[in-house]
Amino acid sequence: MENKKTRLIKILGIAVSIAAIVVGIVRFSIKTNKAKSNIDNARAEINRINEEREQLENVSDIAKRAKEDAQKENNTTEENKQNEENKSQEEDNNKSNKEDDKSSSTQERKATNKNVIVIDPGHQTRGNSSKEPIGPGASETKAKVTGGATGVSTGQTEYNLNLKVALKLRDALEEKGYTVIMTRTTNDVDMSNSERAKIANEAGAAAFIRIHANSVDSSSVKGVLTMCQTSSNPYNGDLASESYKLSKAVLDNFVDATGAVNKGVTRTDTMSGINWCTVPTTIVEMGFLSNPEEDELMATEEYQDKMVTGMVNGIIEYLND
Ligand SMILES: [Zn+2]
Repeated sequence: MENKKTRLIKILGIAVSIAAIVVGIVRFSIKTNKAKSNIDNARAEINRINEEREQLENVSDIAKRAKEDAQKENNTTEENKQNEENKSQEEDNNKSNKEDDKSSSTQERKATNKNVIVIDPGHQTRGNSSKEPIGPGASETKAKVTGGATGVSTGQTEYNLNLKVALKLRDALEEKGYTVIMTRTTNDVDMSNSERAKIANEAGAAAFIRIHANSVDSSSVKGVLTMCQTSSNPYNGDLASESYKLSKAVLDNFVDATGAVNKGVTRTDTMSGINWCTVPTTIVEMGFLSNPEEDELMATEEYQDKMVTGMVNGIIEYLND
C-alpha cells in the first residue's frame, strides 16, 4: 500500500516535471521567433538605408563632376569665352522653338519615387558649344548647352528668368510636401543637358520639369507650349505616354492660371535633355521673349506666381492621376 502511494507520487512528480519542460520549450521558441522577426526588420531597414545612401552618392557624384567641369571651363581664355558666347547666341537665334538637349551614357530604368520632383532651369550664364550625343548610343551630337534667349523688350536673359521661376516652383512644391531637387540654383554653372537629365534619372524623379522661355523671329508669336518625346523615340519611347500626360496636365493648368495662348504639346525626339531621360519629363516653354508683351509679363512677380501656380496644379494633377 505504502509502495503504491510512493510510486504514484513519483509518477505525478515526473509528469509535473515533463509539463514544466514542455512549457519552457514553448516559451523559448516564442522568444526565438520574436528575435528572428526583429532581425528581419533590422535587415530590411539596413537595406533601405543602403539604397538611399547609394542614391545620394550618385547625385553628389554628378554634382561633383559638374563642379569640376565648371572649374575647367573657367580656365579657358577670355577670347575663347567671347567666341563661345557669340557662337551660342547665333545658335540660339537660329533655333527658335528648338531648345537644346543632350546627355551621355546608357541609363537603367529605376522605379520612380512618387514624392521626388527634379526641376531644371534651362541654360546658364555662358553656353558650352562642345558636343555630346543626342541620346544614349547616338552618333548624332549637339552642343552641350546653349546660352538661351533674351527678352526683346526688357533685355532679361532666359537663363535668369528660368532660374527665378524654377526657384519659385521649388518653394511652392516643397510647401505641398514634395521633395524637390534642382539641377542648378545659380546661373554660374556648366552643366550639359544630358548631365541635367541624369540628375533626374538618379533621383528616380516622378517628374522631371524643364523650365524654358521661347524665342522666334516673329515678334507677334506668343503663348505657352510644352514638349515631350514621341512613342517612337529610340531612346525612351516607352516613356512617351507618361511624358505626354505630364506635358498636357502642366500645359492645361498653366493656361488656366495665366490666360496665356495655348500652343499645345510639341512632340519631338531631337532634344538631348529629353532623350537621356529615364523618367517622365516635360519642357515648359513659358512664353515668348521675342514677343514684347509676353517678355514684359514674364518679368513681373505677379505673372511668375501665376505661371508657378499653373505648373504646380498640373504636376499634382499628373501625379494623382
Ligand atoms: Zn531655352
